[in-house]
Amino acid sequence: MKWYELRSEEVEKKVNTNLSLGLSEKEITMRQKQFGYNELKEADRPSALLLFLEQFKDFMVVVLLAATLISGLLGEYIDAIAIIAIVLLNGFLGFFQERKAEKSLHALKELSAPQVTVLRNKQWLRIQSKELVVGDIIKFSSGDRIGADIRLTKVKSLEIEESALTGESVPVPKHIEPIRDDHISLGDQENMAFMGTMVTRGSGEGIVVATGMNTAMGQIAELLQSAETMITPLQRRLEQLGKILISVALVLTFLVVVVGILRGHELYEMFLAGVSLAVAAIPEGLPAIVTVALSLGVQRMIRKNAIVRRLPAVETLGCASVICSDKTGTLTQNKMTVTHLWSGGKTWSVSGTGYDLKGSFFAGEKEVEVPNIKTLQQLLTFGVLCNNASLKEKKDEYIIDGDPTEGALIVAGMKAGLQRDLLLNQFEIIEEFPFDSARKMMSVIVKDHSGNQFVITKGAPDVLLNVSESILWENKQQHLTEEYGNYVKNAIEELASDALRTIAVAFKPIRPNQKIMNELEAERDLVFIGIQGMIDPPRPEVKAAVQECKDAGIKTIMITGDHLITAKAIAAQLGILPSGGKVLDGNALSKMEVEDLEEIVEDVYVFARVSPEHKLKIVKALQRKGHIVAMTGDGVNDAPAIKAADIGIAMGITGTDVAKEASSLVLLDDNFATIKAAINEGRNIYENIRKFIRYLLASNVGEILVMLFAMLLALPLPLVPIQILWVNLVTDGLPAMALGLDQAEDNVMKRGPRHPNEGVFARKLGWKVVSRGFLIGIVTLAAFMIVYGRDPSNLGYAQTIAFATLVLAQLIHVFDCRSERSIFHRNPFQNMYLVWAVISSIVLMLIVIYYPPLQPIFHTTAIEARDWLLIIGLSAVPTFLLAGSLLTRSRSKPRML
Ligand code: ATP
Repeated sequence: MKWYELRSEEVEKKVNTNLSLGLSEKEITMRQKQFGYNELKEADRPSALLLFLEQFKDFMVVVLLAATLISGLLGEYIDAIAIIAIVLLNGFLGFFQERKAEKSLHALKELSAPQVTVLRNKQWLRIQSKELVVGDIIKFSSGDRIGADIRLTKVKSLEIEESALTGESVPVPKHIEPIRDDHISLGDQENMAFMGTMVTRGSGEGIVVATGMNTAMGQIAELLQSAETMITPLQRRLEQLGKILISVALVLTFLVVVVGILRGHELYEMFLAGVSLAVAAIPEGLPAIVTVALSLGVQRMIRKNAIVRRLPAVETLGCASVICSDKTGTLTQNKMTVTHLWSGGKTWSVSGTGYDLKGSFFAGEKEVEVPNIKTLQQLLTFGVLCNNASLKEKKDEYIIDGDPTEGALIVAGMKAGLQRDLLLNQFEIIEEFPFDSARKMMSVIVKDHSGNQFVITKGAPDVLLNVSESILWENKQQHLTEEYGNYVKNAIEELASDALRTIAVAFKPIRPNQKIMNELEAERDLVFIGIQGMIDPPRPEVKAAVQECKDAGIKTIMITGDHLITAKAIAAQLGILPSGGKVLDGNALSKMEVEDLEEIVEDVYVFARVSPEHKLKIVKALQRKGHIVAMTGDGVNDAPAIKAADIGIAMGITGTDVAKEASSLVLLDDNFATIKAAINEGRNIYENIRKFIRYLLASNVGEILVMLFAMLLALPLPLVPIQILWVNLVTDGLPAMALGLDQAEDNVMKRGPRHPNEGVFARKLGWKVVSRGFLIGIVTLAAFMIVYGRDPSNLGYAQTIAFATLVLAQLIHVFDCRSERSIFHRNPFQNMYLVWAVISSIVLMLIVIYYPPLQPIFHTTAIEARDWLLIIGLSAVPTFLLAGSLLTRSRSKPRML
């Protein structure tokens, strides 16, 4: 279908819709049923069966199964069946964990799925893009990604970047006129917008004409199946480390087997023991457990309003040393209220709070009637006309639909009795040049009833001053001399030093029918009218969050398009700007190279009047200084800086699709405090991963050493294969998982950020693994030797004692793993998952030891009460022997910047 050839009314008829009402509920359900969701087909996810089978692809597990088969053939049925049962159980456990991790990561993807604004049943709604059907009317603006193929019906300076489809990266200006041509390429269909392309400027509306696989993108979708690698640096490091650990475990196991055989053990016996040991001791599952821990952490982050879009960011978050945060909406509430106005040397104040329409105007203490003061009336009227926001009533409260800055101007106007709807009856808007944060201005061209036309511009006062030629002063238009200019500058500074955000309004008459081609032509030689100053209160929770970041060695930098003095005042209120801290504005920044900025960047806390491209410079300078930078953004132009930052953060509410797609973290509530919470969580996740690495590896070291030492000492096997496998499944598995759910230590935000190149075994982890593992091996062997020495005829009993000691030693050690410092620093009952995991492991161990039907399977004998003293005493040694010495030594200090 050549939609571009038709007029919009023809398209409307063809797809059976209504441009002013949208589709009805009934129609939508019918179309969704008929044509399905507006989605591109995804590559299939691995099936459950495949995922389950993957649990057994490990080489040693295959060897173990083969060995078990042989022992089964040799008549050792009980052993064979028990081993297979344990391997299967292990497989199920791994399968369920991975399945859950995969599901939660998939759900995450759904959460960050794009949304569109659609007209349905006469109302504009936000819906998920996949819900779109042919005939839907959608609207979009700069920064949005187009959700389906549409025939445009309205455009305002609309430009769309279609490189995803055509390869052409220069944005295409769009219009709505039909194009009569038989064969034109997608790139030339200027009255169409296609799924997956990006609005870079202006805004528009259109009718959906194709969805899902029927779109132009759908036709090439197969080519686009880009599988983004989601593996994190730690996972990669662990994979490499895993290879080394496997080799070490294999060598040691081999040693156990060889020494065992030399000491006269049977080949078959040693073979099965060796293979079981290898299966138990090889930490092949580490990367998988890390994935599980990451996905659990990611879920916790969602509950705190932070959505992770790229898994590696979870780790990087823990290394962040600088947060560069936007001001408006992130540090402040983005709930603006005009409180002061300035024009022609006079200042007025306005009463009222928030978007409440009650309020009056005052000159000093005296209330004034706005219509009596011509410039004030003009300042407010033009503020309302050069505007795209509207006010909506919701549950007895007014809310702003659109930009809050513009909303504040509407509310100020209404306090003076100026209604936008009524004003639009007098003035017709015939052209608009939308606001962008690089120009810091917006303009409209209006025409009144007598055919007079003029440009109205509003924007940052200092910028407007530069493009004004005259000024309204005492109701007269005066040439804007340096003297008048200074009055204006003083007024800006005065308003800004009260932390007010300032917007100036200017205008210029133009000839009837004069065609203004672009914003450059519109926004020059203006007549400056005055300034409106609005408060934007800081978010109440931010000050404490900034302080917590400081304690954690993380510097907060404010980056804003606002005036330097406004920014400074708010930064000081929030504790971002210390005394002596530098502030820098966009002008100065423009003149600097990255190298120059690098010189001073450590001292700068506020960047004001910046344009989005400055953000990239700031990120680069900070990175050159060795910082790990978190950078927030919301607009299209912020995307490069968000991408370049180590942690790109996009706003969930005000952020554009483009910014979100470039980011690795999305803040659902746009709140700075959420960044802090995410960093906290990021650090915690990393610490939890370290905790279970320590636990698992120390356990493995213990298991190998007890066997190795016994062989070297010419002792019988202290543990039988099934016991080793049992320890691996029950004792290692459950508590390790519970460690992944552990709470942060109280000092996690009181120390400096982690170095990104820090190795897995840094901060004494390696030492702890080896020393604790060694001691676990020694005490197990000691228990075995004592009991075996007492009665060498009862080997089974001594093995049961060794089994119980090994299990208990590990289960006590797990509580020590919770702290970087020592076991005494943490309340064991804080993590009830762990307490229950340990209790269940103990109960299961007791069942295996005391339940007669299981005794022959696990080669166990009921332990006498007095021997429990020995077991408990010895198993506490590995944890408490070294914990005491560390207690006095460790006092971690935050590494400050
Ligand atoms: P940030 O969110 O990065 O803290 P910001 O939102 O204050 O910054 P911009 O939106 O780029 O930054 O605004 C910069 C300046 O442009 C403001 O100080 C204001 O003077 C002016 N401005 C903001 N919004 C508008 C608008 N809708 N129309 C005209 N001028 C505007």
